[in-house]
Amino acid sequence: MKIIIATQNPHKLEEIREIAHLYGIIGVDFEAIDSSLDFNPVEDGKTFEENSLIKAKEANRLTHTYTMADDSGLCVDALGGSPGIHSARYADTAQKRIDKLLDALKGETNRKAKFVCAITLINPSGEVEFTARGECKGEIAFTQSGSHGFGYDPVFLVEGTSKTMAEMSEDEKNKISHRSLAMQKLFEYIKEIINN
Ligand code: IMP
Repeated sequence: MKIIIATQNPHKLEEIREIAHLYGIIGVDFEAIDSSLDFNPVEDGKTFEENSLIKAKEANRLTHTYTMADDSGLCVDALGGSPGIHSARYADTAQKRIDKLLDALKGETNRKAKFVCAITLINPSGEVEFTARGECKGEIAFTQSGSHGFGYDPVFLVEGTSKTMAEMSEDEKNKISHRSLAMQKLFEYIKEIINN
């Protein structure tokens, strides 16, 4: 079984392959959408689910095979769920996004936040075959620490641990991350397809 991942980000493809490996998925070939294709979906959905659907559908329109897309972001309680679906565009660079977030929460005691990931699998006929959502709860730290991962990882303290996501190894993060939790649900479904 081949699934085209609706991303041209090699880091994301690698992470998905690692999560698949962690959960013993064999016989599924994950590939990024061919860079020669004109893959430029307009992510104008209002939810993570809508944006993952837009990306998966556009990849299917170009490839007519199984396609999967994820859309994720950080939702902060005290900011009414922001930056949410706008997480990637909250500021120009990763460091500026972190600085803006810490600034927005200055003096705020409610630091509760969660990472959210929605995934959509489209079948070769262009129909939605499966959707799932994964969430990882935590708090926004007062200062950043750790150098692993990407994005908001250095300021995201994972619930039930004393570590930021950036202080976790790749394997540790891949067991608890929002993307991993959503992917696990997809893998359970794929295992059923393969075994039937
Ligand atoms: P995407 O939809 O997976 O591309 O994620 C959108 C944005 O959300 C990213 O550019 C990051 O800023 C943020 N984000 C999503 N997942 C993570 C994560 O695992 N760690 C840190 N930031 C993340």
